[in-house]
Amino acid sequence: MNVAMIGTGYVGLVTGACLADIGHHVICVDTNARKIRRLQDGRIPIYEPGLNKVVERNRQAGRLTFTTDLTTAVQQAIVVFIAVGTPRHEDGSADICNVLQAAIDIGTAITDYTVIINKSTVPVGTVARIRSVVNDSTTKSFSVVSNPEFLKQGDAINDFMHPDRIVIGVDDDRAADYMRELYAPITVAQWPSGRPGGQESWGSDPLLLEMDCASAELCKYASNAMLATRISFMNEIAHVCDCVGADVDQVRLAMGADRRIGPEFLRPGLGYGGSCFPKDVAALVSFAGKKDYNFRILRAVERVNNRQKRFLFDQILNHFKGSLFERTIAIWGLAFKPNTDDMREAPSIALIKRLLTAGAYVRVYDPQAAANAESVLGPRDGVTYTDTAFSALTGADALALVTEWEEFRAPNVARMRDALKTPVIFDGRNLYNPQDMRDQGMTYYSIGRQ
Ligand code: NAD
Repeated sequence: MNVAMIGTGYVGLVTGACLADIGHHVICVDTNARKIRRLQDGRIPIYEPGLNKVVERNRQAGRLTFTTDLTTAVQQAIVVFIAVGTPRHEDGSADICNVLQAAIDIGTAITDYTVIINKSTVPVGTVARIRSVVNDSTTKSFSVVSNPEFLKQGDAINDFMHPDRIVIGVDDDRAADYMRELYAPITVAQWPSGRPGGQESWGSDPLLLEMDCASAELCKYASNAMLATRISFMNEIAHVCDCVGADVDQVRLAMGADRRIGPEFLRPGLGYGGSCFPKDVAALVSFAGKKDYNFRILRAVERVNNRQKRFLFDQILNHFKGSLFERTIAIWGLAFKPNTDDMREAPSIALIKRLLTAGAYVRVYDPQAAANAESVLGPRDGVTYTDTAFSALTGADALALVTEWEEFRAPNVARMRDALKTPVIFDGRNLYNPQDMRDQGMTYYSIGRQ
């Protein structure tokens, strides 16, 4: 099938490359000419494990190309994805200008029947608005489908190839047939011997959940909001553990053993960040509010998260008896989570800004995100970027562990002690064993563990 992908960011590039990998011909479009030039030269503008190989083999096979020319790309495609950014407005609502602009551009370009698939995360009702603006721009026939994206940065290729579900919001049969054909290489491969028993499904395949457009748009927000709620809930449980002398690791193991709860997303930390959870929780609160529905739980989830983002700073400040002036804090990990270079709403940003405001210096290290961190933070006195984890420790008064990259999991503690001025660790991800650390001479802080 010939596919055009409008927006070549984390979602568009991964989806475009993976669609090419399952046999489609994909043209990725972006307004960012620099990004497209890099991709045309075979350079990948983001860090996502495995993506470079998928892009390269499909580029070489001639199934994946890149352009800034939306019109030509759309005219060659039967299905056109919209995968552009939907950042948040100051009031928390989702900014869908990029989506509507892309829709107008697509409408202006189409010369034949086209299936327009929205993959961007958008408030309920956006598919209807896309339909309306495309209708105003063309006399040709077209369908609009909602196909929200559930990939996790850091494991995005695997998520595309082995999805938990593919959600299709569709209200005409012709478009539904195209969607089934588009994803057939994945859905057929997943269940070669047919539909497993007990799977609830409305479509022809258990992985393809076909539903109305409003439900498809909402289920993306509902999923992210649920995950954000689990994170805030566990951060609250961790604080209670600290109050009563319990161990959150034991508590979460017992909770996760309950099949109704499951073990995922039960680790306390520094609060959720990234390009999706903060903005999607805010957007859901906002569009529910516009329909006079006060989403009380999510408001609390946001409050807990905002407080949690301060937690590590407060721990550090308390340890140093209320003054961080001229202290140096080493920071391991800047990205909002491991295996990505994405710095959008990363908890490290708030921590670094607070440390600097308090008069401290920071020595920071991240395996992939340093360049993005530098552009987010801008030029600032007091921040030193280092090339290795251990050089960040040199002469520092303490280490704050912010992102749980694999390379931080089993450090040489004796070497850490030697590099640090004082052997103190603030572990914002509960990565290390408290007793082991103490046995090796470290003063060790974590979250909800004694
Ligand atoms: P991104 O910022 O990485 O990429 C968006 C791209 O769209 C940019 O390269 C931008 O230049 C381009 N763009 C903007 N307007 C355009 C236009 N009119 N025409 C062509 N290109 C245009 O964003 P992302 O992280 O890929 O997210 C895209 C959407 O997917 C968002 O709605 C997001 O909420 C959703 N989503 C993201 C993730 C994730 O993990 N990043 C997961 C699921 C869903």
